[in-house]
Amino acid sequence: MTRARAGVLHTPHGSIPTPVFMPVGTQGTVKGLSPRDLAEDLGVRILLANTYHLYVRPGPDLIRQLGGLHQFMSWPRGILTDSGGYQVFSLSGLRKITEDGVQFRSHLNGDLHAFTPESTVDVQLAFGSDILMALDECPEYPVGHAYAGESMRRTVRWARRAAQHHSQRMAESPTRHALFPIVQGSTFPDLRRECAAALLDLDADGYALGGLSVGEPRALSLEMVEATEGILPRGRPRYAMGVGMPAELPEYVARGVDMMDCVLPSRNARNGCLFTSQGRVTIKQARYRDDPRPLDENCGCYTCRSFSRAYLRHLFLSGEILYAVLATRHNVRRYLDIMREIRDAIVSVRYPEYLNFVRSASADAG
Ligand SMILES: [Zn+2]
Repeated sequence: MTRARAGVLHTPHGSIPTPVFMPVGTQGTVKGLSPRDLAEDLGVRILLANTYHLYVRPGPDLIRQLGGLHQFMSWPRGILTDSGGYQVFSLSGLRKITEDGVQFRSHLNGDLHAFTPESTVDVQLAFGSDILMALDECPEYPVGHAYAGESMRRTVRWARRAAQHHSQRMAESPTRHALFPIVQGSTFPDLRRECAAALLDLDADGYALGGLSVGEPRALSLEMVEATEGILPRGRPRYAMGVGMPAELPEYVARGVDMMDCVLPSRNARNGCLFTSQGRVTIKQARYRDDPRPLDENCGCYTCRSFSRAYLRHLFLSGEILYAVLATRHNVRRYLDIMREIRDAIVSVRYPEYLNFVRSASADAG
C-alpha cells in the first residue's frame, strides 16, 4: 500500500497529467533546449522558472510589457514560478529578514531590493505564471528546533498575507493564477505538522513542501513528506520542491507527492553525468572512447537514436555546445520517461510492485 496517486492538473495553459516532473528554466530557458524541443519533442507540459533570477534581470516590468513570460520565452504551456525565497535565503550575508519580508542585495550588481509576501505575488503575476508560490523562509540545514519553529510560524503569517493579496488581485483579474503556500519546519515532524495544519485554513489551490534537498539525509526528507501526508487535503496537488535524483522520484510519489522539479537532469548533463535506464554514465571516462553504442539502448530520444557514446564523449571533451544540447535532451527525457512509468504503474494498480522493482534495480546499480 502506498500513497501514490495519478491525477490531472488543469491550468490556463493546458492540462497536466500527474505525477509530473517539471524541468527547471531558471532564467526563462531550460539551458540547451528550445521551447519547441521541450513542448513538441519531449512533451513537457509545465516548467519552472525562478522568480529571483527573472526579478533581478530582466525584471517583472519588462516581462509584463512584453506580454508576460509565456510570450517573452515563446512557451505555450504551463509555468510555475517559485517565490524567490529560496534563492534570496541562499544569499547568506546579503539579506536581512524582518516580519515584513526580506531585504537583499542583487548578486549581479549589489543593488538593494526587498521581497514581501505581497510583492512576490505581484512579481509572479507580472510574469503571468500559472502557479505562484507564496513567499517563505527556507532555513539552512541543520537548524535548531527553536529557530525552525520561529521561522516556520513567520512563513505561515507570510502565506496568509500572500493569500489575501492574491485573492484581491484575482477578484480584478481576467486570467486565473493559482497560489500554493509552502510547508516548512526544517527536519522536525512536529513543526511540519503544525505548519501544514495552519496552512489548511487558506484552502489553497495546492500545497508545496519546501526545505527539502537542502543537504539533509534523504531518509529524513522522505520522513518530512510523510509527516504531513495525512494532513494536507487529498484533493489538492502536493509539490515537493527541488527533488530529486532519478531513484528518488518514485519514493516521493509513494508518499503522495504529485509534482517535483530539479535542476539535476539539466545541470548534471552539462557536467557530463548522464542518467540512463541502466544507471549513471560519466561520459568523460576513457571506457567510452570508442564505444559505438547509444547512451541508453532503452531510450527513444534524438540523442540516443542518433549518436554513439564515443561521439558524445568527443563533444564533451572538446567543450562543444552540441554536447550540452544532446546531453540535456537525453537527461530530461529520462526523467520524463520515469514519470511516465510511474503514472502507468499507478493507473494499472501495480505501484507497490513497480516500487519494489526500482528499489532493487537502484540498489544493484549502487
Ligand atoms: Zn536518450
